[in-house]
Amino acid sequence: MKLLGTMEVRDNELYIGGVASTELVKNYGTPLYVIDEKLVRNTCKSYYDAFKVKEGKNRVAYAGKAFLPMEMCRIINEEGLCLDVVSGGELFTAYKAGFPLEKVFFHGNNKSHEEIKLGINLGVGTFVVDNLYEIELIDKYAKEKNVVQNIYFRITPGIEAHTHDYIQTGQIDSKFGFTIDSEALDFAIKTAKEKENIKLIGIHAHIGSQIFDIEPYGDLVRLMFTLAKRIRDEFDIDITDVDLGGGIGVYYTDEDEPKSAQQFCETIVNKAEEIAKELRMEVPRLVIEPGRSVIGNAGSTLYTIGAIKSVLDIRKYVSIDGGMTDNIRPALYNAAYECALANRMNDEEKEVVTVAGKCCESGDILLKDVEINKVNSGDILVVPTTGAYGYSMSNNYNKTPKAAVVSVMDGNTKVMCRRQSYEELIQLEN
Ligand SMILES: *Cc1c(COP(=O)(O)O)cnc(C)c1O
Repeated sequence: MKLLGTMEVRDNELYIGGVASTELVKNYGTPLYVIDEKLVRNTCKSYYDAFKVKEGKNRVAYAGKAFLPMEMCRIINEEGLCLDVVSGGELFTAYKAGFPLEKVFFHGNNKSHEEIKLGINLGVGTFVVDNLYEIELIDKYAKEKNVVQNIYFRITPGIEAHTHDYIQTGQIDSKFGFTIDSEALDFAIKTAKEKENIKLIGIHAHIGSQIFDIEPYGDLVRLMFTLAKRIRDEFDIDITDVDLGGGIGVYYTDEDEPKSAQQFCETIVNKAEEIAKELRMEVPRLVIEPGRSVIGNAGSTLYTIGAIKSVLDIRKYVSIDGGMTDNIRPALYNAAYECALANRMNDEEKEVVTVAGKCCESGDILLKDVEINKVNSGDILVVPTTGAYGYSMSNNYNKTPKAAVVSVMDGNTKVMCRRQSYEELIQLEN
C-alpha cells in the first residue's frame, strides 16, 4: 500500500495527520472515514496557485458531490476555491456552512422548481443551464425576485474521456447539456438572449472522470474557445467564462499514474493562451471543477476485521464491519483499491485474501485477491483513497447507520460527521 499525504508508519502502526490509527479506532469506532486535512488543504493550494486564481480571473470550483459535509465547505472557502453543487441538498449544505453563495455554480440536468427558486433566492452566482426548460424556469423566478441571473450553458462537446482512452465523436448520446454546434444550442442561445432576467456569460463542459491524459482537455479548450468566438460573432454575446469541468484522475492502485494538480493546471493555462492567440481572441476566464482529485487521496477508511473463513482452498474471505454501505464503488463499477493492516504495517508474512463487506449481497466485496499481512480477527484494515464518492454515496442498506468522519491534522482530531445512531436511523419513520 502506497503511503499518501501525511501517512507514516511509527512502531509498526499507521499514523495519519500525526494520529495513530488504533487511537482513532478506540475513540471513534469503525468503520471510520479519516480525512487528512493537510493533504486536502495542500491540494487546494496547488490548484489555487497553478491555475493562477490569485493573479486574475481564473477559478477553481470544488465539485461538492465528491464529499460535502459542512466542514468541507468551510475548508474549501478558506482555501479560496469556488463550489459546484448539483442539488438543493448540496446547496442547502453550502448555505448552512456559510459558504459565499456568489461563488457557487449550480449544476444538474433536471433542477426542480424548488431547487431553482432556492438557488435564486439564496443568490447563487452561476447556474449551469442544461436545457431549454430550465431557461424558462430561471427567467421566471429571477423575474419574481427582480434579479438578473448569470448563467453558463452546459455543452456536450463530443469528447468523452475515462482513464486511459478518450473518444471524439460528432454527436455524443448524453443526457447532459446541449450538443456543440447544434440547432438546439443555437435556439437556446437565442432564447436566453431574449430573456430579460438571464445573462449568458459562459459555457461549460465536463468530459468524464478519473482521466489521466491532459490531451483531451487541450482538445476541449480548442472546441470551447471556438464556440465562444462563434457565439460572439453570430449572437453578439460576450462569453467571458469557459468552464472545462473536472475529471482529473487520482492514484488508487499501482496501475494509476495521475498527473499532479500543478502539471495539469499549467498545461491547461498554457494551452489556453496558445489557442486564444491562434484564434485571435482574448483568453477568457477559465474555470476547472476538480472533485475526486481534491479529496480522493485525502480520505481513508478504517475497518475492524471480524470473521475469517477459507473456502475449499479457493479463497480466503476476510469480513469487515462495513462494505457497500460506506463504499459502494467496488460493487457499482468494480473500482479497485489497495489496503493494509493499519495496526501491523510491517509484518513480513503475507497472504492473499478477499475482503468482504457485511451486507446481504454477494456483490458486497470490497477488495478481491489482495495481498496483505497475515490477518487475524480484530486487526484494523485501512483502505486509502476513499475520500471521493465514499461518504457522499454512502447509504443505509440493511439499516446500517452511516459511519463517522473525522479529520486529522498535526496530531489533532476533529469530528466532521458524527456516527449515525439507531434512533436517528428510524427518525423519519412513523
Ligand atoms: C462530477 C463532476 C465534476 C467532478 O468530477 P471529478 O471526476 O470528481 O473531478 C465536475 N464537474 C461536473 C459537472 C461533474 O458532474
